[in-house]
This record gives sequence, C-alpha cells and structure tokens, in this order.
Amino acid sequence: MRTGLYPGTFDPITLGHIDIIRRSCALVDRLVIGVAINRDKGPMFSLEERVAMVQAEVAGLAEQSGTIIDVHPFENLLIDCAHDVGATILLRGLRAVADFEYEYQMVGMNRQMDASIETVFLMADVKYQPIASKLVKEIARLGGDVSKFVTPPVLAALRDRSGP
Ligand code: ADP
Repeated sequence: MRTGLYPGTFDPITLGHIDIIRRSCALVDRLVIGVAINRDKGPMFSLEERVAMVQAEVAGLAEQSGTIIDVHPFENLLIDCAHDVGATILLRGLRAVADFEYEYQMVGMNRQMDASIETVFLMADVKYQPIASKLVKEIARLGGDVSKFVTPPVLAALRDRSGP
C-alpha cells in the first residue's frame, strides 16, 4: 500500500488544492492530507474549521477514485509527520517560479533527514494554477468575487468571515 502525504495550510482549501488532491489520488493508494497548524501565518480559519472544510471537500473524491483519504492535523516537522502517518511520498503542488526556490530547498533538506522519502511535484490545471489561499482571502476581505477559486461551501464560509 502506497501512502502519500500532501501537506499545506489550507486556509481555506481552494480549487487549486482540490485539483492537486485529485491528481494525487491517481498516484497513491492512501492519501493523507496534512493540515498544518501554522500559527505564524495567522490563519483566517481555525485548525478545526480548516480540517472540517478539507474533509467535506474530499469525501466525494475518495469515493470516485477509490483512494483512501485521511485528513491529519500536524504541528511537528513534516518528515516526522510523514513517519507518523506511514507516508513514503510527499506530494506538493508547483505554481509559478516563485514556489520553486522554496520547494528546492525543502526537498534538499528533507532528503538529508530521510533519503527514503521522495517528493513528487504536481501542476494543477492551467485555470487553477494562479490560485493562492492568501489572495483568495485578500479578495474576499475586500468584497471581491472569489466564486471561481473555491467551492460554494468555502465561498459561504469566506463571506461569513469577511463580513458584509
Ligand atoms: P497556499 O500557498 O495557497 O497558502 P498551502 O500552503 O495550503 O497553500 O499549499 C499547500 C500545497 O498546495 C503547496 O504545495 C502549494 O504549492 C500547493 N498549491 C496551493 N495552491 C495551488 C495551486 N493553485 N496550484 C498548484 N498547487 C497549489
């Protein structure tokens, strides 16, 4: 059984994340979505809210793909989280060149901590590539329309949080 770990903040989960999750399901038997606590990022949604949103969004995908999907909050080192959940593959989405430098360093350092864990990069469909949670939150806060970037339940949660 091949287990992959897809870590992120998911504050909130976007159509970009969902596209990467769908693609990941084709590669592994079990996909663990690691939701980072990330207090430093000052998340808009609490860990519990983010986990619940991810769980609701992936239920259908698990059924469609036959892949087991578990949602796992974590606060420790990514490599330790991978060990905890039995993952041998780390899945990451790559957007623009800006993501590359950080990801390049992460792979290099993670590999020195555990050479048996491989990182796999996936690209979302071109229409989802520019989506970033940070920008979705900014647009929502300023009253813009983010319905092209998130699902209807996440849109409702963003409207709720961003005020009238
Ligand atoms: P963000 O950077 O949007 O706040 P996360 O920290 O939750 O998102 O990112 C988790 C993972 O998902 C990272 O590997 C990130 O590169 C990837 N990801 C996020 N949005 C997209 C997207 N639109 N296309 C491809 N990958 C993405």
